[in-house]
Amino acid sequence: MAITRDDVINWVKDYARVIEENHEMLTDLDREIGDADHGANMRRGFKTVLDKLPSLEDKDIGAILKGVGMTLLSKVGGAAGPLYSTIFIKAGTSIGPKMEMELEDWAKALEAAAAGIATLGKALPNDKTMLDALYPAVDALKTSMQNGTSTGEALLNSAEAAHEGMLATIPLVARKGRASYLGERSAGHQDPGATSTYLLIKSAADAWSD
Ligand code: ADP
Ligand code: MG
Repeated sequence: MAITRDDVINWVKDYARVIEENHEMLTDLDREIGDADHGANMRRGFKTVLDKLPSLEDKDIGAILKGVGMTLLSKVGGAAGPLYSTIFIKAGTSIGPKMEMELEDWAKALEAAAAGIATLGKALPNDKTMLDALYPAVDALKTSMQNGTSTGEALLNSAEAAHEGMLATIPLVARKGRASYLGERSAGHQDPGATSTYLLIKSAADAWSD
């Protein structure tokens, strides 16, 4: 089953709604191990993305995702701005000028996004960052494709894996970003960026799996 340009637009809209519903929770998580702005950062960014979407709606998937990434870069402060911008720009570049994509394109796009974040932020697995939700999602997509799982099922598997990765950040000591300033005291708290990244993957699964 192909994922169309309209599906991609619907995913971005759905994620903007999810951020609107969860921004307080994300900021609360960031209050515990950061500076209490992650929800506000994401909310500001995706509000601007919603304003920008009408000018992107007739474009191909690559151009839409790159447009979202450029908008986030200009509007989201903190570490998350450039990192989320990188997710969308790398994914868009990987997919390129397609009006619809296959699951394989999506898996490669998320892999490129994770590689981009790793290059930019220099985080490794288990450093308690967004990557701890993103890497498991990529792995689950690849495994599902190897097993010949349906697109819908594979997307749900990726969301489930991102969820587990998010929860697995709780006991970790942060080694990157603001939370790393807390050292051992960062353990026992769920990473805000891994949480918003889980929501991103979950939102794609919800938007595309039926
Ligand atoms: P800031 O930390 O500048 O206030 P945010 O609060 O918006 O920015 O985002 C914090 C999140 O950014 C963290 O929870 C973490 O997941 C992510 N993050 C921070 N530094 C890095 C990094 N070097 N690599 C990957 N993700 C990172
Ligand atoms: Mg913060």
